[in-house]
Amino acid sequence: MGAKEGFIQFKRETPVSRDPSERINDYREIYKPFSEEKLNHQAARCMDCGVPFCHNGCPLGNVIPEFNDAVYNQEWGQAIDILRSTNNFPEFTGRICPAPCEASCVLGINKDPVAIELIEKSIAEKAYELGLIKANPPKERTGKRVAVVGSGPAGLAAADQLNQAGHEVTLFEKDAKVGGLLRYGIPDFKLEKWVIDRRIALMEEEGVIFSPNTEVGKSIKADEILNQFDAVVLSTGAAQPRSLNIQGDKYKGVHFAMEFLGKQNRVIGGEMAENPISAQGKHVIIIGGGDTGSDCIGTSNRHGAASITQLELLPKPPKQRTVLNPWPEWPMTLKTSSSHEEGAERIFSILTKKFTGNEAGEVTGLTLVDIEWKEKGGRMAFEEIPGTERTLPCDLAFIAIGYLGPAQNGLLQAFGVETMENSLPKSKNYQSTNPKVFLAGDMRRGQSLVVWAISEGREAAVKVDEYLMGSSSLPQKDSSFFEVEEQIAG
Ligand SMILES: Cc1cc2nc3c(=O)[nH]c(=O)nc-3n(C[C@H](O)[C@H](O)[C@H](O)COP(=O)(O)OP(=O)(O)OC[C@H]3O[C@@H](n4cnc5c(N)ncnc54)[C@H](O)[C@@H]3O)c2cc1C
Ligand code: SF4
Repeated sequence: MGAKEGFIQFKRETPVSRDPSERINDYREIYKPFSEEKLNHQAARCMDCGVPFCHNGCPLGNVIPEFNDAVYNQEWGQAIDILRSTNNFPEFTGRICPAPCEASCVLGINKDPVAIELIEKSIAEKAYELGLIKANPPKERTGKRVAVVGSGPAGLAAADQLNQAGHEVTLFEKDAKVGGLLRYGIPDFKLEKWVIDRRIALMEEEGVIFSPNTEVGKSIKADEILNQFDAVVLSTGAAQPRSLNIQGDKYKGVHFAMEFLGKQNRVIGGEMAENPISAQGKHVIIIGGGDTGSDCIGTSNRHGAASITQLELLPKPPKQRTVLNPWPEWPMTLKTSSSHEEGAERIFSILTKKFTGNEAGEVTGLTLVDIEWKEKGGRMAFEEIPGTERTLPCDLAFIAIGYLGPAQNGLLQAFGVETMENSLPKSKNYQSTNPKVFLAGDMRRGQSLVVWAISEGREAAVKVDEYLMGSSSLPQKDSSFFEVEEQIAG
């Protein structure tokens, strides 16, 4: 533990963001630099708890009190070694993780939690600056070949681990550039893409073979992959969006969120000249109150939308935890993202009834009704509030109500992987019903988070390594995590 009374002496402080009126003119990250002295104070707030709940809250099992201590003592080499031992890509999670570790930080019981995510990002960036993160190819090769299909955080983590174990890893990606939703989903104002490129360059230097523009199942058949490689990891994400299924949802101007966000990232990355979906001067309605919806707000504001409204079926959450949602549970409180700060109206407890349109087939409005949530037979159900039906002007609508599971394109079947009723593939300890094929990330667990995808990639890599070599010396989480995993996989 660094400073004995740091948590009394210093308040939580995180980087100031650029003014919303300024930052909506560009797509760069929104935070201003944070001094090392201030960071030292933040690390000093860690109490080095005997039972560090933060550590348990992190899906990767990040060893948080230890790296906080190293940062306090300015031992950057030690800090990055500790962080790298559990997390392949702290430069990603340090920027875009919702930080479940902070939600379970003991200090959060009656004070603001330790700024763990900021400390993580700072360790990663300082380590790059000092040249502490450099290519470290494996000393020996095993002669085994592994194909990883899908280059999101799950595939990248699996490839990184398996390469470190000495296997020859080829990572296939259908898109032009690797990164999955890090590249084509999460907006640049949350994660600038040079951060991904920097990591990919390192992995290439370490020996990972990247094959972009290669859709497995089309450019190369599943059988060829199975014949050419000793093991396969499928990490193709959960790309099947949930539909709204209301009248008028086929009008021009009604889109799934990812159609808009993915194209915007391609424009910024120089792959497209302009986004064919423009929010400029339009009344934008976003259906879905989650993070993807929030990303649509940030992007629509940058386009210069006339108005932005975000709709959420569920009631407005409280500002503070309630007695039914105590620490260290994930706080079910109102989240105000940086995109919300930039301007949007948020409406809760609202049901979408139908889109209206004009003769040209373009959307012009969205009819809504307020709802009331009540407990019925032990379950929460909603009722429409009579007399509240109204139609809002709408020139552009984004549906952001989640994902159902992997794309239904026959890929799993081609690899001989059986699925469950909910369309997710069956798996046991990351191994599919085809023993040679392993699964990781959103395609296995359903729509989730980057931190979980990295964790899945790492754990799947252990199982692949064991399958190929009989045992594995790759690091893995303790077995109690697997019990939870099995429950998820069903
Ligand atoms: C808009 C948006 C914003 C988000 N923001 C955050 C956030 O701020 N923080 C957070 O933690 N999480 C966020 N998430 C969730 C997070 O991005 C995902 O949980 C995570 O990326 C899942 O990783 P993955 O590797 O499993 O899959 P993905 O990232 O989806 O990657 C799958 C990859 O597989 C490729 N692929 C698919 N089929 C094939 C094929 N047949 N052949 C070759 N390649 C194929 C795809 O092109 C893709 O590149 C966000 C999600 C979205 C949609
Ligand atoms: S729970 Fe919070 S205070 Fe305790 S060790 Fe973890 S980061 Fe430090």
